[in-house]
Amino acid sequence: RQEQYAKLRDVPAVTKDGVEIALHMNAGLAIDMPHLHETGARSIGLFRTELQFMLAPRFPRMDEQYSFYKAVLDAAPEKPVTFRTLDIGSDKILPYMAKIEEENPALGWRAIRIGLDRPGLLRMQLRAMLKAGADRHLRVMFPMIANVAEFEAAKAIALRELDHIRRHRYRSPARIELGAMVEVPSLLWEIDLIAQRADFLSVGSNDLVQYMYAADRDNTRVSKRYDNLSPPVLRALERIADAGARHGAPVTLCGEMGGRPIEALALLAIGYRSLSMAPSSIGPVKSMILNLNLDEAQMYLASLLASDDGAPSVRDKLRDYAIAR
Ligand code: PEP
Ligand code: MG
Repeated sequence: RQEQYAKLRDVPAVTKDGVEIALHMNAGLAIDMPHLHETGARSIGLFRTELQFMLAPRFPRMDEQYSFYKAVLDAAPEKPVTFRTLDIGSDKILPYMAKIEEENPALGWRAIRIGLDRPGLLRMQLRAMLKAGADRHLRVMFPMIANVAEFEAAKAIALRELDHIRRHRYRSPARIELGAMVEVPSLLWEIDLIAQRADFLSVGSNDLVQYMYAADRDNTRVSKRYDNLSPPVLRALERIADAGARHGAPVTLCGEMGGRPIEALALLAIGYRSLSMAPSSIGPVKSMILNLNLDEAQMYLASLLASDDGAPSVRDKLRDYAIAR
């Protein structure tokens, strides 16, 4: 199997009916970077920067963050890297930061909420990224954006840092794109506004599904109760893909479901053309794509969603469909 997938490395991910899908890779540590070349992924679609912070003995200084981002970019010479700003809080604890007791940490002070309330930390991280991205294409996205105002506030901080760098005559990135993660359900009702304002959108389906179903993603008692392949989740995800297409904002999905072949099939059928996943998922998902007639799958999934039979998941039907092809 592994060898079979290795052979697919340089084969473009194109469906039988000629639709090209962009497959990107998720990463979080420098040791993940060689997979970029091995898998043939188009880019790093999600770089989880908090891992460096979680492993450090204390809060990394600006120069340490800079060296780290520079090393990551140097390990991806021809390909873009999408850095996600610090997503700490909830399950991701920094041992050297005062622990805050919260009744509901997943609903608590985390990710961009900390970044906006303690802008010094976010500013330092953005400055390190902007410097590390000198003369390159730099992509940065903000986690847990709940409304357009939070995106605008984070963007303003990034632009202020860019201005600072230019005024001090440091080399700045040749191109900068700022994106929003779509993983808090409230954003679905501002999806047109955010699609107009962000340079790109990235769907964090792990969190989006957790918050849609009010079911802790790390508590298997409840997380297994609801399926990603349910009509409500698929309709929500479709709405995001449609808004991106309508406003010319590229949309990638970077949650774990994008790396599972049946779920990836469903995502393509509702309009996704770009997925970012763990390196080991790229081979299996690509091989599904190479065998897929997307036009037909699209019609089939649309008929399942239109049937309104109240079934909690389309998984079994979709699996039978995929096996029968
Ligand atoms: C997600 O929520 O789907 C996501 C990609 O981010 P994380 O798993 O790091 O929360
Ligand atoms: Mg998330």
